[in-house]
Amino acid sequence: MKKHAIIPIFIPHIGCGHSCVFCNQNIITARSNVPSADDVRNTIETYLPTLEGRGLDTIEVAFFGGSFTGIPMNMQREYLAVAYEYKVAGKIHKIHMSTRPDYINEEILDNLKEFSADTIELGVQSFDDEVLALSKRGHNEEDVYRACNLIKEYGFELGIQLMIGLPGDTKEKAMESARKAAAIKPELARLYPTVVLPDTELAEMYRSGAYTPPSESEAIEITKEMYKILMAADINIMRVGLKSTDLMTNDMDLGKGYHPAFRQLVEGEICREQMEEALSHAVSGSCTFYSNEKWFSPMIGHKGANKKWIAEAYPDITPKYKIDNTLKDGIIFYMPFNSFVVE
Ligand code: SF4
Repeated sequence: MKKHAIIPIFIPHIGCGHSCVFCNQNIITARSNVPSADDVRNTIETYLPTLEGRGLDTIEVAFFGGSFTGIPMNMQREYLAVAYEYKVAGKIHKIHMSTRPDYINEEILDNLKEFSADTIELGVQSFDDEVLALSKRGHNEEDVYRACNLIKEYGFELGIQLMIGLPGDTKEKAMESARKAAAIKPELARLYPTVVLPDTELAEMYRSGAYTPPSESEAIEITKEMYKILMAADINIMRVGLKSTDLMTNDMDLGKGYHPAFRQLVEGEICREQMEEALSHAVSGSCTFYSNEKWFSPMIGHKGANKKWIAEAYPDITPKYKIDNTLKDGIIFYMPFNSFVVE
């Protein structure tokens, strides 16, 4: 498996003239200072020695945070010039940024090409116009297709970020967004359950009763279905859920929707679903479940949840868990033994 490292550069809200109901960019980036080009250089210089000797195939400088292509062009160029210098020197291999669908046009992409940028991630969030409007995203589905097509025409790698549980969203709408994203065939995707952050319009909506976030189990169920759609289309799902460092709140009432092991919970459910189907006709005996190495931990479940569930739900069955690296990601192979009784 290829080893990849990211040097993250956080560019806060300055790039964005919008106010999405869920966004408190200062909290998400945990920074309010706008970095200078020297700060970008210092960040890269700080990371590079820590990445030496780790057998990495690629090192990527990634501009995250606000909307990179929405910041003034001269600032984009200053930041990009630093990253480009390291790319030309062979010290990094890729340049990556996140932005909004409506901040993509020919001039912007020509500029990114000039600095040899590689990957553009779009905060699409949903393909449903009602969800986008209720979330005050300021763009619609048509903008998404226009931006994705243009990014692909220019030959950039495309990333699509989708959110789960925005105002007006439903399981079916979320799955339809995943289907539409998969049909575009981006190189990578991220799935984020909506987190109610303090100092956001969404927090006010939540307190007034105008918005109810999905429960944790609902968010896992919806994300699981979206994950399966993207996985079936061979799309690299780079992240599922926010990182703990993304969430800077001590307000226990807020921060709802955040679970530190959200990805493990979702992947564990994907495995459990297959194990449940396999065991649905079992009566007693032993059996073996196989997954590849990467999916062994999800097969066992977060904190052993799947193992515990089988022990409780199927006390007459003795399962073993083994690795078979010929299996694809997310696939559980089930082998009943001779003593196994199948209806
Ligand atoms: S576009 Fe991004 S940075 Fe701007 S308000 Fe929305 S989520 Fe925040």
